[in-house]
Amino acid sequence: MRELINNAEYDVVVVGAGPGGSMASYYASKNGAKTLLIEKSQEIGEPVRCAEAVPKMEDFGITPDPQFVRSHIKGGYLVAPNGKIIEVSGGKTDGYVVERKIFDKYLAVRSARVGTKVAVKSRVVDLEHNGNGYDVIVSHLGEEYIIKAKIVIAADGVESSVAEMAGLKSKKIPTQVCSCAEYEMTNVKLLDNEMMEFYFGDISPKGYAWIFPKGDTANVGLGVIDKHKKAIDYLNEFIEHPILEGRLKDATPIEFKCGGAPVGGPIEKTVDDNIIVVGDAAGQISPLSGGGIYLSMSCGSMAGEVAAKCIKNNNCSVDALIEYENKWKEKYYDTLMTELRYKNILQKLTEKELNALADAMDDKLEEVDVKKIAFKAVKNAPSLLKYFKEII
Ligand SMILES: Cc1cc2nc3c(=O)[nH]c(=O)nc-3n(C[C@H](O)[C@H](O)[C@H](O)COP(=O)(O)OP(=O)(O)OC[C@H]3O[C@@H](n4cnc5c(N)ncnc54)[C@H](O)[C@@H]3O)c2cc1C
Repeated sequence: MRELINNAEYDVVVVGAGPGGSMASYYASKNGAKTLLIEKSQEIGEPVRCAEAVPKMEDFGITPDPQFVRSHIKGGYLVAPNGKIIEVSGGKTDGYVVERKIFDKYLAVRSARVGTKVAVKSRVVDLEHNGNGYDVIVSHLGEEYIIKAKIVIAADGVESSVAEMAGLKSKKIPTQVCSCAEYEMTNVKLLDNEMMEFYFGDISPKGYAWIFPKGDTANVGLGVIDKHKKAIDYLNEFIEHPILEGRLKDATPIEFKCGGAPVGGPIEKTVDDNIIVVGDAAGQISPLSGGGIYLSMSCGSMAGEVAAKCIKNNNCSVDALIEYENKWKEKYYDTLMTELRYKNILQKLTEKELNALADAMDDKLEEVDVKKIAFKAVKNAPSLLKYFKEII
């Protein structure tokens, strides 16, 4: 494997073999660019920091294969602090809970099949601009190597440092990162084995708790933004919370996962000469749900395609790479910013106000139409107007 990184030269070097990086490398290779995918972990897909829910992978031409699909999902239950349950299903709510250890590996294999070279246990520690691209400094088993890349795609996740090495601002503000803790548990009594469960209120301040069916197991976790108590302490309390009516009494963990979800909205500048930023590194994650797999795959695909086109045209300047930024912004920017506004409002609501909001909602919905719900909620509880006046 050493020859892949020892004084090697590539058109495109993708840093990080998460869903964003593997999709970027797939499209770069498929469109003719000589591509290397670098992953610091010794095993792609490990450690898992995810509740593993993925909407419609078919959008990317990926068949939901039983090797990584653990559950089919038809929707979710939103549970208010007072226990009111709102069912959201029947619209665009179907998807899957996957085994990410296998899914991420599958995406990397799929990319390798179209020509991507993959270097694992290789951490990018620095970038130096060389006039024609980047010297990528990689640490592998205690040795440092230099790789030349005409374009670097930084897909290195929430703790992204690669974009910063190239002078882009990708560091996340700690108060905009949800701290998450999760047990994968067995012997969980689910409300329905095709429905995800979401719990709001003081159970998980400024975030939510979840139970996602995963075949014989379930992912039971939560994300909080709180400096007083750790996510794991909230999680241990959630498991015994009366709202679950003892459904986790006999459950036992088989895995513990933790991590951060950057829910503060996307970074503004995602390209510069010879560099592109994608996925969590670019804040391309839903501020409301913390879901980022689909977005990172979609934006990663765009990044790979544009990178290959720029290589073909022999122009890897910011003026050429901006096509990627224009594409993802056109498709997702407004939605992400609207979600950010809604999230900021939701985070201010007390449990009483969350209950009033839930009481204004029908018991069963196909989709969450925030404007309609806000209007009804204000009619039922005029005190909510101060939060919702900018929406209705
Ligand atoms: C607890 C939790 C639950 C979540 N649940 C869901 C969910 O159910 N559904 C959903 O859609 N999203 C969920 N998310 C978010 C989702 O996990 C991310 O949005 C998604 O993984 C982003 O993909 P990515 O490719 O951008 O980054 P990542 O998947 O984080 O991949 C980045 C990769 O880069 C590697 N890397 C980092 N630095 C370097 C370096 N210097 N050199 C080489 N490699 C490097 C890392 O090892 C990693 O493999 C959750 C997040 C958390 C924390």
